[in-house]
Amino acid sequence: MRFVKRTEKPLSLTTYAEQWTEELLSQIEKKGSYSKVDDEYKNKYRQEDVKDALEKMYTCHCCYCESIIGINTYGRIEHLKPKSLAQFHKYTFDWDNLHWCCEICNTSYKKANWNFQYPILDPSADDISAYLRINLQTGEYEEIDGNPRAATTIKDTGLNREKLVKVRRRIIIHVVKDFKAYQKCGDAEAFLTGLRELMEDMNFPSLYDELITYLSGITRTP
Ligand SMILES: [Zn+2]
Repeated sequence: MRFVKRTEKPLSLTTYAEQWTEELLSQIEKKGSYSKVDDEYKNKYRQEDVKDALEKMYTCHCCYCESIIGINTYGRIEHLKPKSLAQFHKYTFDWDNLHWCCEICNTSYKKANWNFQYPILDPSADDISAYLRINLQTGEYEEIDGNPRAATTIKDTGLNREKLVKVRRRIIIHVVKDFKAYQKCGDAEAFLTGLRELMEDMNFPSLYDELITYLSGITRTP
């Protein structure tokens, strides 16, 4: 998980978000509950320009696990504050609440999780690297200074699910091994430059970022 800079609100939301919100809230009142409202009132955020903007904002990565979206999985528009919770119906069409997410994180892990005391971190608002880091020995995410919001985020988005940890650990082992081989040939800097150029096209760019920072430290050590 990493910080991204939120881009400009797509035109469909600038034009209609307010109207769609009013219609949705009045339908909830009329029908007596959110679950009884027709999907057509709930799903209007599913616009092509919203999907395009989110995909671009997240450079085709999942907002939680950072897997690449669009090759083995479709992207889902994610409501960080779950739209099904009464307190958050009003944020269904709120651009600041929309994120880009892989199907697995969306449907099997984050779901409608929310912690009102220690909210899940917002990748477009919180400085994620001040809360979370990847342990380069284990491949697991860790909360920095025991931060409770970071702990909620790890737990409620499944950041340390077994398959993710295993793949991250494998990447760490291979990258460190390759780095040492290049270092022996005096090519450590070239290796890191190559890695930096590639990282946005890989799964887990923030893992590569942490690895590059760590390995750059080794390069500088006499
Ligand atoms: Zn994901």
